[in-house]
Amino acid sequence: MASSGLPLLTDRYARRIESLRISVTDRCDLRCFYCMPEDVEWLPRKSLLSFEEIERVARVALEGGVRRLRVTGGEPLLRKDLPTLIARLARLPGLEDLALTSNATQLDRLAVPLRQAGLERVNISLDSLDPDKFRKLTNRDMHAQVMGGIDAADAAGFGHISLNCVVIRGQNDDEVVDFARLARERAFDVRFIEFMPLEHGTKWGTDVMVPGKELRERIAEVFPIEPDPDQDPHAPSRDWLFRDGAPGSVGFIDSVTQPFCSTCNRIRLTADGKIRTCLFSLRENDLLGPLRAGADDKELAALLGAAVATKEKKHHITDGLFVKPERTMSQIGG
Ligand code: SAM
Ligand code: SF4
Repeated sequence: MASSGLPLLTDRYARRIESLRISVTDRCDLRCFYCMPEDVEWLPRKSLLSFEEIERVARVALEGGVRRLRVTGGEPLLRKDLPTLIARLARLPGLEDLALTSNATQLDRLAVPLRQAGLERVNISLDSLDPDKFRKLTNRDMHAQVMGGIDAADAAGFGHISLNCVVIRGQNDDEVVDFARLARERAFDVRFIEFMPLEHGTKWGTDVMVPGKELRERIAEVFPIEPDPDQDPHAPSRDWLFRDGAPGSVGFIDSVTQPFCSTCNRIRLTADGKIRTCLFSLRENDLLGPLRAGADDKELAALLGAAVATKEKKHHITDGLFVKPERTMSQIGG
């Protein structure tokens, strides 16, 4: 039992849920081609969870054994007054880790307020070090702004800066060694993510998805690397350190070729109040309705428990049983 007396959130496969990803908006100022269509329809404002509602769900989840919160989106920095929400989440009992995933376009102005509000870690998405390639991947000319945002985060004193890079064959896979060099020079943790079929339309395919193993081998030819001995077994990324003792690391989120479903301890809360037990879930569990109908904490805890009980054993990307969810990554909360 958790400290409040609520049962711990554990699924049918004995996976204890310890991480909640909270999407605070479905909007974004980039249009990464693998994530968001140009002509996307936004959620109506009234269906977005308020800060009070997000805080309540987070508090009840923490009472059920969740220890880590990650705020995401869409682009979370587009949510008005985000530092206020961060401050409210940062003081919740039982919280051990509070992080944010962002594209960094707004970090120049927000890095310091977020740090002051109690944010501990940021993961920044950056798919190219080259402004032209960045524009092609994101459909926006904002490379300089993003690089400025990364500098602002670095200067604001976040513990570790992680860069997330989705690798697409023929577009940015020639940059992996440059990213590894950047990790060494700036003491960043660079994580390479395999392209997953969560895009709008049909852009995904094994021809454009680059297996993490291939990237690892390319990097190791230039910078010898070894597995991080302190690897968190529940983390999606397998991290490697530089053998020569250089700072920083490279990590590989091989969601397609090396699924980590058996150790997955995450659930997601969408911006419109649905619990998703897997990125690839085909059904969602509504909390918005019950929250607005006056559900008390015990009822919310029961709804969370019931959702967790349906957590999928694994995804089916490579076994022929895969059905793509209707919502894209930006609407789910990556
Ligand atoms: N806008 C923020 C950002 O880009 O960091 C947060 C939300 S974004 C959906 C979270 C992460 O999901 C990003 O690192 C992004 O690159 C990744 N992502 C989006 N679509 C993806 C896909 N189809 N396959 C793999 N990763 C994807
Ligand atoms: Fe926006 Fe992030 Fe999706 Fe890119 S990956 S379109 S930055 S939500």
